[in-house]
Amino acid sequence: MHGATTIAPMKSIRLHEGKERSLLRRHPWVFQGSVAKGKADPGETVRVEAADGRFLAWGAYSPTSMIRVRAWSFDEAERVDAAFFARRIAAAVALRRRLPVASDGVRLVHGEADGLPGLIVDRYGDTLSAQFLSAGAERWRDVIADALLAATGCTRLYERSDSGTRGLEGLEARSGWLRGEGESRLTITEHDWRLTLDVALGHKTGFYLDQRDNRALLARWVRHFGLQRVLNCYSYTGGFTVAALAGGAAHVTSVDSSAPALVLLADNVALNGFDAARSEALDADVNGYLRQALKDGRHFDAIVLDPPKFAPTASHAERAARAYKDINRLALKLLAPGGLLLSFSCSGGIGAELFHKIVAGAAADAGVDGAILQRLEGACDHPTTLVFPEGEYLKGLAILKRA
Ligand code: SAH
Repeated sequence: MHGATTIAPMKSIRLHEGKERSLLRRHPWVFQGSVAKGKADPGETVRVEAADGRFLAWGAYSPTSMIRVRAWSFDEAERVDAAFFARRIAAAVALRRRLPVASDGVRLVHGEADGLPGLIVDRYGDTLSAQFLSAGAERWRDVIADALLAATGCTRLYERSDSGTRGLEGLEARSGWLRGEGESRLTITEHDWRLTLDVALGHKTGFYLDQRDNRALLARWVRHFGLQRVLNCYSYTGGFTVAALAGGAAHVTSVDSSAPALVLLADNVALNGFDAARSEALDADVNGYLRQALKDGRHFDAIVLDPPKFAPTASHAERAARAYKDINRLALKLLAPGGLLLSFSCSGGIGAELFHKIVAGAAADAGVDGAILQRLEGACDHPTTLVFPEGEYLKGLAILKRA
């Protein structure tokens, strides 16, 4: 049953003195320790109030999560009902229409940044792929699915609610067609190339749209500097591989530990008309591969390092920092003089400044100097908003090694 049709009175969550500050700034999270009293069912809409009873927000209650309430609205007059979700989703979709996105693969809803905490939606051509990651998003799942179809004109929506973070919300993993059905393998057009992905078998919703602009940058720089031998580490389905080949690289070595991703990588190389001899895909651990390549005396003119999240939260930052430093040190050594390194971190727990320090430390250990060509970030359809800096996760550096 949805909040909109509930006849029981709205439940209230009362905060401790002083704990209203972040909500007053429209930050959408209420941590467990801030709650003085009140409880509700998973995903139920609650009235969050300050210690003096003043209204702060309408939010979704999550009984097991550290983030006990995620705010839907800071407007006391607004009702959290089907029309509310239709408005929020329409606004998110309208924003994407205004943004310069060079692809028919687009992040349509980026959780908190779109006022929809716990909801991630990507559009791949005529198909939507969504993650419902919070108790609130889960409770409104059907309403949200209908609103997504109405706002986009898409008829198919695949659900990928199988992320580990669902466990923190007390939710089971679930995946499958939620609306419509069909082939889970889809092909999008990104920049000048075509990329096949699989919404059922792929990671997250199927593809890493956030790296779209950085793939274009790689293609441009490979062409500009005339880079020939490229190493794409953590290649997944080969987005950066195709970009490097499109930029004119003679040969790309791609390394990933996911065999299904590498099958799609080979398909993507062929789909774009590149000779298979220009691409080599290795099912291997990147760290081990880098060490071996160094022993073998190999060199590359460009290296991409796009590892998985080593630090999900700030508490993992120290161990993650060592792991980032290690691969960056190895990559900087493997890079030929004058070569280009694109190095990324998608860890929320590692800020851009810390990441810069880590890579600088790696360069010092490698005895390498270089010029930072550009600081890199996620594409603009994955916005970081002013009120929710936690949303910032992907950062990177483009470094040109001294010749
Ligand atoms: N650059 C990719 C996205 C990379 S996501 C793109 O543009 O699409 C991170 C990838 O790292 C995943 O494909 C995952 O399978 C891979 N991976 C995780 N740990 C790994 C390891 N130790 N060695 C090699 N690959 C790994």
